[in-house]
Order: sequence, then structure tokens, then C-alpha cells
Amino acid sequence: MSGSGKTVGMILIAAGVIIFLIVTLFIGSGLASGQTGGSGAILGIGLFGVLPLLILGGIGAYLFTQGKREEQDLAGVRKKERLLGLIQAQGKAQLNSIMVELKMTRDEVKQDIYELVQQGLFTGYIDWSTNTFFSKDAAQVASNKCPNCGGVRELVGQGIVKCQYCGAELFIPPGAPQTTATPVPPAAPPATQA
Ligand SMILES: [Zn+2]
Repeated sequence: MSGSGKTVGMILIAAGVIIFLIVTLFIGSGLASGQTGGSGAILGIGLFGVLPLLILGGIGAYLFTQGKREEQDLAGVRKKERLLGLIQAQGKAQLNSIMVELKMTRDEVKQDIYELVQQGLFTGYIDWSTNTFFSKDAAQVASNKCPNCGGVRELVGQGIVKCQYCGAELFIPPGAPQTTATPVPPAAPPATQA
């Protein structure tokens, strides 16, 4: 489960430290009272104190970082799911409100959107004149006609394609059929969509 690796890692590190301290105290007291010789004390602390500390600490540190990475991955996935939900709930979402709602920077939002597009999980476009994301069916985006202004591109393209007429960035799913068409500028200047 998430974060359990972190907890186990911390317990192992703590156990290593505690064993080291107890062994050091125990042998140290023997040394002080003259019952243990100097070389015996060094051997004892090394074998029963330092060695467990290194082994437990090493495994613990590994599990801890591994658990932490899993946690971050999961948080990233959840954030992407929420981002997708925000846009798809109403078919569109303002970049600014996404940034506020999900506490993300502009670049982080863009990065996540691009990844969702690459994974084939999001199709749509962003109208940069209003900073608004629109969720559209793959069929609408992966055609030669711009869903924002109606202008016709020569090539469908793939991934993130900028419309040469209105500047909207279209998010086209990987593997979209590459049809060609004669370029036609939009009939009227693109209406500003609210
Ligand atoms: Zn356009």
C-alpha cells in the first residue's frame, strides 16, 4: 500500500540505530569496568553495532526512498485525473481556474495535459486567446478542420498542433489518421469564445 514502504524503511533505520546504541553502551560499560579489552570492544561494536546499522540502515533508506517515489507518482496520477475531470465536467475549463483549483503552475498544467494527450487520455484544444481548454471528441480534433475557428489545415498532424489561423493548440491523439485537405482559411474571423 502507498507509503507503507516509507514506514517500514523508517522502522528499519530506527532499529539499526537503537541496536547500535545499545551494543555501544553495553560494550562501552564493559570497557569502562575493565571486563572488556580494547580490541574486543572494537570487534564487538563493529560486528554487533555497526554492521546491523549499515545493513538495516541501507535497506531502510532504500525502502524509504522507494516508498516516497511511489507516493509522488500516485499523487501525480491523482492530479492528472482531477485535471481531466475538471475539463471534461463542463467540456471546457479556464487555465487560470485549473491553476488555482489544483495549485499548479501554468507549465505544470501544460506538462500534464501534454502527457495525457500522449497517453491518448485527452483530446481537445486550448484557445490561447481566452486561455481556455476545450474537451472534444477525437474525431473532431483529428480532422483537418480546426474545431476552434473552422479553418482547414493541409495536414491533420499529431500530438500538439498549432492552428495556423487562430493559434489554438490542438491535442491530437497518437495514431490519428493523417488525411490531407486543401487549406481553407476560416470563413469569418474566429469568434471569441467565452
Ligand atoms: Zn483555428
